[in-house]
Amino acid sequence: MNFKGRVVIVTGASRGIGREIASSFGRAGAVVACVATSVKGAQATANEITASGGKAHAYACDVSKSSDVEELFKALVEDLGTPAVIVNNAGITRDTLILRMSEDDWDQVQDVNLKGAFLMIRAASKLMMKARYGRIVNLTSVIGLGGGAGQANYAAAKAGIVGLTKSVAKEFGSRNITCNAIAPGFIETDMTQKLPEEFREFVKKNAPAGRLGTPTDIAPVVLFFASEEAAYITGQVLVVDGGLTL
Ligand code: NAP
Repeated sequence: MNFKGRVVIVTGASRGIGREIASSFGRAGAVVACVATSVKGAQATANEITASGGKAHAYACDVSKSSDVEELFKALVEDLGTPAVIVNNAGITRDTLILRMSEDDWDQVQDVNLKGAFLMIRAASKLMMKARYGRIVNLTSVIGLGGGAGQANYAAAKAGIVGLTKSVAKEFGSRNITCNAIAPGFIETDMTQKLPEEFREFVKKNAPAGRLGTPTDIAPVVLFFASEEAAYITGQVLVVDGGLTL
């Protein structure tokens, strides 16, 4: 898979899965636009990529805000040109039982995880349609497919990503734009550090792989969906969970 010269946007590139995705694209020759809430976080990943001979730029953007996303695209297109790939990876959790879930817990999780992906796709759609080329990869979750007690807000947002992915695939398919989603299981990042130890043990015991995943288990799958070779795959959701939900 060769991404030489392709402009690739990765949201949530400062940490965890997004950082690994951005670095992998950097190693594969892409011009990577690293996006995070602060330019400092995004810059750290961009520096890592450029230090190992790749090309990367850092941008601050809160993906839940349409004005931020519009500004991001304005700057990015001017700096780098039309994006070929968007990876909607930015995400947050505000886990709690419904009984205790505030409206804000609900709204923030929808806004970042679901609306953020919509805003990014909407901003890119005109450019990608004009270029008659695009690869969109969205991060959902096994929780979006099977639900999760204490995660109703996150499960709803991630289930929304599945509907969004399939709709975008249908809407843009004739323009050589694909849209697919990856549903990770439990991956070792800041997000899962908040999980109780007993739950981590449960995953280790019940996943045939016998361990939690790592960002390096996810990034190659993103690169595959984003590649030219995956042209005939669209609207799909691939579970990457070490077999946990079998
Ligand atoms: P993480 O380590 O908590 O990192 C989250 C990333 O999202 C950070 O780069 C953060 O940037 C960025 N972000 C948060 N809010 C944002 C906003 N409003 N605008 C732009 N960027 C924002 O998370 P992760 O575990 O790598 O998860 C990455 C994705 O995979 C998420 O969509 C998550 O839901 C999904 N996922 C993760 C797991 C897992 O087990 N870890 C499982 C299934 C799905 P800052 O550093 O600037 O805050």
